[in-house]
Amino acid sequence: MTSTPTGDARGTVLVVNSGSSSVKYQLVDPASGEAVASGLVERIGEPRGAVKHVAHGETTRRELPVPDHAEALRIVLGLFDEIGPDLSAAHVVAVGHRVVQGGSRFDGPVLVDDAVEHAIEELSPLAPLHNPPNLTGIRVAQALLPDVPHVAVFDTAFFRTLPDAAATYAIDTAVAEQHQVRRYGAHGTSHQYVSQQVAEVLGRPLEDLHQIVLHLGNGASASAVRGGVAVETSMGLTPLEGLVMGTRSGDVDPAVVFHLHRNAGMSVDEIDDLLNRRSGLKGLSGENDFRALHELVDAGDPRARLALDVYLHRLRKYVGAYHAVLGRLDVLTFTAGVGENDDLVRARLVEGLDAMGIEVDPERNAGRKGEPTVISPEGARVTVLVVPTNEELAIARQALDVTGA
Ligand code: AMP
Repeated sequence: MTSTPTGDARGTVLVVNSGSSSVKYQLVDPASGEAVASGLVERIGEPRGAVKHVAHGETTRRELPVPDHAEALRIVLGLFDEIGPDLSAAHVVAVGHRVVQGGSRFDGPVLVDDAVEHAIEELSPLAPLHNPPNLTGIRVAQALLPDVPHVAVFDTAFFRTLPDAAATYAIDTAVAEQHQVRRYGAHGTSHQYVSQQVAEVLGRPLEDLHQIVLHLGNGASASAVRGGVAVETSMGLTPLEGLVMGTRSGDVDPAVVFHLHRNAGMSVDEIDDLLNRRSGLKGLSGENDFRALHELVDAGDPRARLALDVYLHRLRKYVGAYHAVLGRLDVLTFTAGVGENDDLVRARLVEGLDAMGIEVDPERNAGRKGEPTVISPEGARVTVLVVPTNEELAIARQALDVTGA
């Protein structure tokens, strides 16, 4: 093994996102922002798992049984050994773990210790599909990489600053407190990263900017950020609330749940499945990928047209509401799969918003954006941008902040 570190002397960070049946990873050089290697283990626990490892510009794919998360991470470390890059040579100084739910407790990244592990476990009722596999990933990675610090980076942390008026649901206080019912938000790492990038790209102090960030991917969320501090966000107790998403409904009257239970005889689990996995664009049109949705619209499919209209209407409502929350709007930013790639969604969203100072220049807006790009016309009252998100880099940098490496 060589002792030449990849990247600069600060070394690299291994970022791990451990889901219920998958583990995503990326070896990040935080100084350059480069992904030195990345990959994904899928279908953990199923008879045939799938592994993908990308390094040195080449993709290696394998199919093999992956019984559990421990084996998944062992396979990943084996691939680093076999294909590279050599983790010792890459000088891994920290492992950053994405954790979905940090509850009221975590307002930033923390070094993992027994108390942190316990807290992640205790918060599992708020994110039953995510926190348990996140914690499993942490434990397994600690056992396999015991000599480096492990840092938990919470998807909710950026929204811990929400004012009580934004975080509180108007339900009985005792019930809400006992069951920790409040707005926690999600995608916080992305909203924080993008809002900070905006200040850097514009060369303006973050403290001066009133921003709306639209994270539009398969999941979608909006946030209002004043001076770098989140003051409102569309996801709530869980990532179900807010915008119309690929397969999630976003906002519905809560009475829809009672109605379906009482009158359609659906169980709570069935309604959970309906609103999380069979709703949104998919529920409305049969398609949750925007590329396919546009094709259906072009072919005259009325359900697809309605789906797009509902999506844009909801998004516009949030932009208007957050403008009011902020009082003044300086910047509106699009990010994530749809926000970065879909110029039609961007153009249609701002239709009719010129009175609010929000408009895009058709030429600047055209096409997919792989780097931060201003798309509003010269001199526009609100600067509209596309900024690619990079949650792995954000997690890597936060992990370094904590470890001081
Ligand atoms: P994400 O969850 O951020 O990975 O975003 C995934 C979504 O981005 C997909 O479901 C698509 O709807 C959308 N998307 C990805 N690439 C494109 C593209 N070239 N044009 C339009 N939408 C895209």
